[in-house]
Amino acid sequence: MNAVQVRRQIHVSGLVQGVGFRPFVYRLADEERLAGSVMNTASGVVIEVQGELDSIAQFLSRLHSETPPLARITRITVVDQSCIDDRQFRIVESHKDQAVHTLISPDVTVCGDCLREMFDPQDRRYLYPFINCTNCGPRFTIVRSIPYDRGYTSMAEFEMCPRCQAEHDDPRSRRFHAQPNACWQCGPRLELWNGDGWFIATHDPVAETVAALRAGRIVAVKGLGGFHLAADATNAAAVELLRERKRRVEKPFAVMVPDLAAAGALCHIDAVEGEALQSRQRPIVLLRKRAGCNLPEQVAPFHRELGLFLPYTPLHHLLFAIGGFKALVMTSGNASEEPIAIDNEEARERLGKLADFLLMHNRDILLRCDDSVARVTGNTLRPLRRSRGFVPAPVFLHQEIPPILAVGGELKNTICLTSGAQAFLSQHIGDLENLAAYSFFNQAIEHLKNILEIEPVAIAHDLHPDYLSTHWAQEQRGLPLIGVQHHHAHIASCMAENHLDGKVIGFALDGTGYGTDGNIWGGEVLIADYAGFTRAAQLEYMPMPGGAAAIHEPWRMAVSYLAHYLGPDALKNRLPLHEEIHPAQIQLALRMVERGIYSPLTSGYGRLCDAVASIAGIRQKVNYEGQAAIELEAAMDDGADGAAYPFELEQRAGRLVIGMEGLFRALARDVSDRVPAGVMSARFHRGLADILVKVAHLLRARTDLDRVCLSGGTFNNVFLLKNLSRQLSAGGFQVFTQNQVPCGDGGLSLGQAMVAAHLRRL
Ligand code: ZN
Ligand code: ZN
Ligand code: FE
Repeated sequence: MNAVQVRRQIHVSGLVQGVGFRPFVYRLADEERLAGSVMNTASGVVIEVQGELDSIAQFLSRLHSETPPLARITRITVVDQSCIDDRQFRIVESHKDQAVHTLISPDVTVCGDCLREMFDPQDRRYLYPFINCTNCGPRFTIVRSIPYDRGYTSMAEFEMCPRCQAEHDDPRSRRFHAQPNACWQCGPRLELWNGDGWFIATHDPVAETVAALRAGRIVAVKGLGGFHLAADATNAAAVELLRERKRRVEKPFAVMVPDLAAAGALCHIDAVEGEALQSRQRPIVLLRKRAGCNLPEQVAPFHRELGLFLPYTPLHHLLFAIGGFKALVMTSGNASEEPIAIDNEEARERLGKLADFLLMHNRDILLRCDDSVARVTGNTLRPLRRSRGFVPAPVFLHQEIPPILAVGGELKNTICLTSGAQAFLSQHIGDLENLAAYSFFNQAIEHLKNILEIEPVAIAHDLHPDYLSTHWAQEQRGLPLIGVQHHHAHIASCMAENHLDGKVIGFALDGTGYGTDGNIWGGEVLIADYAGFTRAAQLEYMPMPGGAAAIHEPWRMAVSYLAHYLGPDALKNRLPLHEEIHPAQIQLALRMVERGIYSPLTSGYGRLCDAVASIAGIRQKVNYEGQAAIELEAAMDDGADGAAYPFELEQRAGRLVIGMEGLFRALARDVSDRVPAGVMSARFHRGLADILVKVAHLLRARTDLDRVCLSGGTFNNVFLLKNLSRQLSAGGFQVFTQNQVPCGDGGLSLGQAMVAAHLRRL
């Protein structure tokens, strides 16, 4: 006879729609012999189960332990129900009129099951480059609008063949409700074009592509979120050619390798880095080059690190399997600093000049999404660029806030929309100085609002009056605007992802951010909560001769600091900058500084790094933002002895001002003593860590605060992040850093949203 029956209603919230959750529940219920139903609702998934108590307990525990790979459960609540006459388990379609709040999954790497099928000669999808299932494949970049249904994706124009349809309709199939389901019969196809815009009739575009790459040609390859420009990374001439055509001088190229072993032959890889490389998100992971790394220097000149990633589309796997490549440069398909190309027509036009061939397909990419970039520091994977694979998964907040649109900064822009206790950051939009990036910015805002069904009640923006994102915000009608100071937003971003409330000591270090006094901040220590901040300490202000020109030419800051602290005569001594810069230019810069013309004041840490890099002889001019600081760190001789350079502290106008006279005296002495650059770099970085720790102690004594947040792009600097964290922790501080969103300007929008939510007093 039947044991006692019970019935339970289970509410599941989180990322549980469009990720194979209902068929998973169906299978569990079936295996545990439970009757009932499962359906999507506005807030997640509602399950009803009826059966023996033990079976239901088992069902609940498996719900947690066997969650499908793409799903993420944030909460489960269970309610008792009275039993009804129920014998079987059903998947119930949601009501059409019900507002179903669907979280769209990010695009993820092809799964092991699909790969096995693709390389199985007996399988009907043998070598099919668009194979996918409920556990893998494109999502975010093919969705036009919600609900997540094939008709609202760029798969709409492909009608499923009967066999694909049968899989799609069968709850026991791995492809149940897999919207992009496709095969040779019914799905997208590859096509090959040459750079002059001619279609190439071939029955095997992959083999032709492989042959071209082997011959040292450059091929534009259409991927998940846009095009890559591919070249054989072991062929120095091919890599050089790609650099010339892309007009990319020294910025390193990302390299795709076939598997973990191939990655390990080029770079040192620890367990966390190995996991990151193989994760579903497949970011580009920055790794330390091995001494025996035999790729040509042109791949990543002057760098100790190399950005590696593993294949993530079926097509990538085919290229490696058929071509046998050890490594391919796979850099984003654009001319320098333009957004990545996604459209076939656009690609033929823009990329035809850069590539010899274009390997394309007829499944549209609706929204561009660049590769994500990350690095492991202190055993934690930290995003430098949070994009493909991560977006649009939310950052979970510790409290509900009103719907806010935050439009980010100017460089490495992302935007953020909030809903309840979730913050949705957009993919990497890029530098808004560029007109094409600006239109992408517009499009990303509309698309995110659309697929998330969020109508913001306020717009948060940076205080900088000239940022295009600020202009955009000011052009919107009908919504209140909230300006948020740049470094306050950095600290709030760190607080938000760490679920902090109340006041913290915030170290915000970066290159540039508009200050409330109209000067350019960037070496700031704030006492902050979400609603406000006081500026407790700063690097001493210094003039930037030539304004923005100083950002491109580090020697200008060397002139400024040396003249300020040691007097103009210090420039008569022999310095590395004299070898590259014309004396008249140096004189001109000096005069600008002395007279205060064309010389805005900055407390930016990035500018201090510029000056030190120039004096140490590392670099007088840069080709990309942050290059001097990056190379200054890379040059560091970790084993160097020699004392840390001294900094001074002074109380001025109610705050601590960090002076650098001692630092520049010592630097000048080291230059004349011909101390190697690596030693100077080490002494500089140690000195900086020491003074910041000292500031933290002083502020704790005054405020009783012992929680420290580290944010701003400077904390991509491994040495500072590690050493400052270690020294502060040893001093009894609780140290919080970022690992969900970038600590650089890519994470600003999250902080802006949090500040705006608290300033609005809602
Ligand atoms: Zn799959
Ligand atoms: Zn089919
Ligand atoms: Fe910043």
